[in-house]
Amino acid sequence: MSNVVGLHCINCGKTYSPQPGLYTCSRCGEKEGILDVDYDYDYIKKALSPQGLQGNREHSMWRYRPFLPVNQEGPLPPLRVGWSPLYYVPRLAQEIGLKHLYVKDDGVNPTASLKDRASAVAVARALAEGAASVACASTGNAASSLAGAAASVGLKAFIFVPARAPQGKVAQLLIFGATVVSVQGSYEDAFRLSDQAIKRWGWYNRNAAINPYLVEGKKTVCLEVAEQLGWEVPDWVVVSVGDGCTLAGAWKAWLDLHRVGWIERLPRMLGVQAEGCCPITRAFREGGKVQPAEENTIADSIAVGVPRNPEKALRAIRESGGTMINVSDEEILKAMRLLGRSTGVFGEPAGVAGLAGLARAVAEGIVRPEEKVVCLVTGNGLKDVATAIKAAGAPLSLPPDMEQLERALQGLI
Ligand SMILES: *Cc1c(COP(=O)(O)O)cnc(C)c1O
Ligand SMILES: [Zn+2]
Repeated sequence: MSNVVGLHCINCGKTYSPQPGLYTCSRCGEKEGILDVDYDYDYIKKALSPQGLQGNREHSMWRYRPFLPVNQEGPLPPLRVGWSPLYYVPRLAQEIGLKHLYVKDDGVNPTASLKDRASAVAVARALAEGAASVACASTGNAASSLAGAAASVGLKAFIFVPARAPQGKVAQLLIFGATVVSVQGSYEDAFRLSDQAIKRWGWYNRNAAINPYLVEGKKTVCLEVAEQLGWEVPDWVVVSVGDGCTLAGAWKAWLDLHRVGWIERLPRMLGVQAEGCCPITRAFREGGKVQPAEENTIADSIAVGVPRNPEKALRAIRESGGTMINVSDEEILKAMRLLGRSTGVFGEPAGVAGLAGLARAVAEGIVRPEEKVVCLVTGNGLKDVATAIKAAGAPLSLPPDMEQLERALQGLI
């Protein structure tokens, strides 16, 4: 990793050089001692430029390899992750009261969520460190993405999910050949059990936040946004928030781009949580440490009662001059329908929570109508069909009869 200078603890500043098994700061411990990767920005500038990217035919997240903590030469995991479409969506913009809105559809990734970006880096690191097995606890998407990435390179995967994980996600895990433990308890319970197992058997640890390389993978989503916008910086970037790694990663992209001088200003970050599980919003508003919260929302991917990366996420919000907002499950279901019918993009509940929060932020005057906004859709709706049906309702049910069809379609044609 000739592009990586080292890592530093975001709590005490102690620096480390990358080494197998190093995840958190030894001085601050696992909860507080979250590490952040530091780069040699001169190296990056020499290796890559906006002009150079124009002719780059690597249409995946690996096109930004010099910005990533992976070996700079040799093979990388083969699944095509990233380079997801950024859609300009004027009809959706109008419906929520904006002039310029873009939707980044990360549901098109190989296992259908943004988590593929983090798992691709995790598996690249696991291979570089000579691990034979990888493991994580997850609300679902981190797990399915890890299982898919592991399968693509022949690593074993051990996965811990809470019992409530939607069936679509569990099916993915099993199809990818992972050993799946459905833990009878919350995400926090699954996390704790995985942590003990990882220590016991020495597996590569892909747990969110604990592993500093995951945020770097997630960063690629906004490296792409910047490139897709021709290096013009939006006013706001909207992200749904569970552990806080996606938000932290999205923010780091803009910081990195600023450091290499490819952009001149920074966007504001809008983080969105579900009302039924909003420990990070609460800490943002009230100050002080994040307190454990209930996990009471249909948006399973952001139902994280004990977030593992609140500090990086809170810093991203504060440094960017952004804010956190909550949405109800009703608003999430509404956003799912709205996104689908006005753009043709189908998001899972956590995938559209950002849009629900954006609609609310516009209504409350936090985001102004003329501001340019990018909203991330972080996961595909087919992962959780049961909830989608709740949002969408039932089809017209008719016998094969033209007269009845005419009557049923009255007012719809
Ligand atoms: C994981 C996830 C998020 C939130 O990411 P965090 O890093 O946990 O904050 C949002 N949406 C989807 C679909 C996810 O899978
Ligand atoms: Zn420390």
